[in-house]
Amino acid sequence: MKSKSSALPKAFVFGIAGLLLTGCSTLVEKTPARSEIKNVIMIIGDGMGPQQVGLLLSYARQAPHGVLKNRKTALDRLAESGRIGISLTYPDGALVTDSAASATQLASGKFAKAEMVGLDTDGHPAENVIEKARRWGKATGLVSDTRITHATPAAFAAHETHRSHETNIPEDLLAANADVMLSGGLDYWLPQAAAEKNSPIHQEMEASIEHAFRIDSARKDGKNLLDAARKQGYRLVFNARQLRQASGKTLGLFAGSGMSNGIVENRNRLDAGHAEPTLAEMSDQALKILERNERGFFLMIEAGQIDWAAHRNDTGLLLHEMLRFDAMLHKVLDWMGEREDTLLIVTADHETGGFGFSYSGKNIPAPETLASGHVFKPNFNFGNPEILDKLYAQKLSYHAIFAEFDTLPSNRRTAAALAERINRHTEFEIGTHEAERILATEANADYRPDHPSLNEKTVPKLAAKTAFFVYKKDNRENLLAELVGARQQVVWASGTHTSTPVFVFAKGAGQAVEPFANILHHTDVGRLMIEALRPKDAAD
Ligand code: MG
Ligand code: ZN
Repeated sequence: MKSKSSALPKAFVFGIAGLLLTGCSTLVEKTPARSEIKNVIMIIGDGMGPQQVGLLLSYARQAPHGVLKNRKTALDRLAESGRIGISLTYPDGALVTDSAASATQLASGKFAKAEMVGLDTDGHPAENVIEKARRWGKATGLVSDTRITHATPAAFAAHETHRSHETNIPEDLLAANADVMLSGGLDYWLPQAAAEKNSPIHQEMEASIEHAFRIDSARKDGKNLLDAARKQGYRLVFNARQLRQASGKTLGLFAGSGMSNGIVENRNRLDAGHAEPTLAEMSDQALKILERNERGFFLMIEAGQIDWAAHRNDTGLLLHEMLRFDAMLHKVLDWMGEREDTLLIVTADHETGGFGFSYSGKNIPAPETLASGHVFKPNFNFGNPEILDKLYAQKLSYHAIFAEFDTLPSNRRTAAALAERINRHTEFEIGTHEAERILATEANADYRPDHPSLNEKTVPKLAAKTAFFVYKKDNRENLLAELVGARQQVVWASGTHTSTPVFVFAKGAGQAVEPFANILHHTDVGRLMIEALRPKDAAD
């Protein structure tokens, strides 16, 4: 290579250099100044690694009866006019991240340790983009289809040494004072007394939410953070109709804990009377409220249950979560149009599950005679695209199937009853002997009595890799996934996260998108985003 380039005539090299220089100066003249960027929208698909994006794209392109118009996704639309880069997600001092550290790194541009919320590596509060945007006179918002106190939204507003401090987080959120917060998690805002059916607060809340879901409390104290929010000027909304009427500072809490999953939401979208707003509806209303600020806004939108589906290795649900993400992104792109005053960044905090379609030695297709007359005899089964339609046809999440099974009286919780349920709600049938394997248990090799998920003495009997399936209560779901894997042509490597770099899509705002087309780390993505939002005359 060296001898080849040195052999180039000098005039040619200078010519190229001259072209590059001229090219650069025109580029600088044409692109709007950085100060013209008013708004930044960051969309995070939690657990949306390249593999999860790939599932959505495979479905769009290859499902024989795919539901997406023109076989195009919102990511295709975004890619047409934007830039694509990749980003490493690792936290301080470790190979793999969790959502809290990853979102902290995106929100602040600073490294954090895994499971930390809004702190730098020394344990000091790291100023986040919401705090900065407020200093700069901009409106701010958080939208998530999980719950507002969960790691991802929390890391954009709160400062806690651990993500599990969820009962502290409502007060952190109120201190950050974002103009719009829309998600689930009402239980974390209500005093302990709300758990009692006969208490005045329980009955008052049932009326407020128009009986849309069950009132409960996740708190162990008497604090009513909804009252505090009201005093701080928030209008409280609890269902889709109330949300549509919201215009000013708004706190929307649409579920006691996590919002509905993607299968339920995609069904809801077809029902005009649905009580719980969709992720697309929450995002749309947030934009309508925030765009009124003349100085602009910052909005973070999370499609958070991609991760939850992937932890449970529930591929049909994962597809529905990706479709929910896609519907939301279409809405945001519709709002954005061709505007150059807004920077849109779409990324993930990490990949979850080590997912992929894979080829196998099972059900190898029979030889076929091609149009040419030659006989084609495949050695392996590379996966029939009809699998994509079957994944879409799943009617209930694995989690809901097992929750339903667990409500049966113990003498009816049989392998046959489980197989019947699985076969009723999914397209990948299992037999009674397979259901028996799902229900088999063993002693927990990683038992820790004081641990939030390893504290089960007896756990489902996994075939292998038990160290990476740490959410013991959900391991029957992972077992089911493994059993139907060969039929779905699907492999899952883990029940937790992987270190796979994730995509970064960026659109709008002239030259501000260019640095995202690179190999980055999430602290770079955070810093670039904050720098793009910062008004020209404002301090860091
Ligand atoms: Mg999350
Ligand atoms: Zn996760």
